[in-house]
Amino acid sequence: MSDQTLASSEQPIPLCVPDVSGNEWQYVKDCLDTAWVSSVGAYVDRFEQMLAERVGSRHAVATVNGTSALHTALLIAGVEPDDEVLVSALSFIAPANAIRYAGAWPVFIDAEENFWQMDPQCVTDFLERQCESVAGALYNRQTRRRVRAIIPVHILGHPVDLAPILALAKRFDLVVIEDATEGLGANYAGQPLGSIGDIGCYSFNGNKMITTGGGGMLVTNREDWADRARYLTTQAKDDPVEYIHGAVGFNYRLTNIQAAMGCAQLEQLDRYLQLKKGIAADYSIKLAAIPGAMAMPEPGYGTSAWWLYTMLVDADTFGMDRKNLMQKLSTQNIQTRPLWQPLHKSPAYPGSQFVGEGVAEKLNDRALSLPCSVGLQKEQLKTVVGAIAACCNS
Ligand SMILES: *Cc1c(COP(=O)(O)O)cnc(C)c1O
Repeated sequence: MSDQTLASSEQPIPLCVPDVSGNEWQYVKDCLDTAWVSSVGAYVDRFEQMLAERVGSRHAVATVNGTSALHTALLIAGVEPDDEVLVSALSFIAPANAIRYAGAWPVFIDAEENFWQMDPQCVTDFLERQCESVAGALYNRQTRRRVRAIIPVHILGHPVDLAPILALAKRFDLVVIEDATEGLGANYAGQPLGSIGDIGCYSFNGNKMITTGGGGMLVTNREDWADRARYLTTQAKDDPVEYIHGAVGFNYRLTNIQAAMGCAQLEQLDRYLQLKKGIAADYSIKLAAIPGAMAMPEPGYGTSAWWLYTMLVDADTFGMDRKNLMQKLSTQNIQTRPLWQPLHKSPAYPGSQFVGEGVAEKLNDRALSLPCSVGLQKEQLKTVVGAIAACCNS
């Protein structure tokens, strides 16, 4: 029997699909019943309040998606065209794109080997050795551009080691914008991700910790920045009656229907976190028995949201590389995915600046994210691990 016939007799195991089993129907129906469907409505305010409370930030502004939240965050932080912003090299591309939308340029920071997050040592090296202060502003010596902000991206659910990055930001007067999309619900030193830097951003796309179909949010403790974000995301209206606009704004507001779904999803976040943690623990125990399959390490300095459980494949010991393992699993209807191409290698960012030693690339060669929907059954997890074990030195 070929792999192909095996596959067709089994239920596919998806990578990460949403769970819509709470009050989503009820709240969305409420929007439709009352015809409050668009970007004004009680659910938008409620969703913002719920998330602000959940992460312990004073203000929250909902946006159409996570990318627009990041773009808005950069604008309210005062990032201007031709400024530079440090961002994780090993990340989904959205934060880098948001930097370009603001007219600024990304400087890509390598990952550290232990937990695969932005390496604080590389941030230190860049700021201390490759930059200089002139008249109170920090300039990149090589490009002569002003350095304004840092976007640590908490990837896969794990926290970035923020303390050294926050200390550097303070020393060099840089704004810290956390991209906390994948770490919604996780903590760093007891504090919720997204509420620790100056601004935190989240995405609620289909496969994130919670989903609104598409949506995003930014949080901050600064009232003036929150006001500015609200203004910019609603076309910068100075006088809504006479249609006077004080700036070139954006139509970035989330709709009431999506916010209604967000409220219902956020009610479930603790349950999701618990289920994800259980799945991760189960994988880590089972993978430990397979030579060359390295379980996802857990940082001691915080908690993880375990958004995408990811293993490393050591091709020599395992007897197969990550690409081939992925292919084998796919023929058995098991959906997995690699990490993102490191952004300094992306055709979208030719000639970009990179600070590091190539850890992101090494991780990209070896990492494979495994099925980890909150609804993943124990039997399905066993099937996945069994399929991986069968590939080991096969
Ligand atoms: C998904 C994601 C985004 C982008 O969010 P969208 O809602 O798709 O615009 C940004 N940052 C990270 C880390 C993400 O995982």
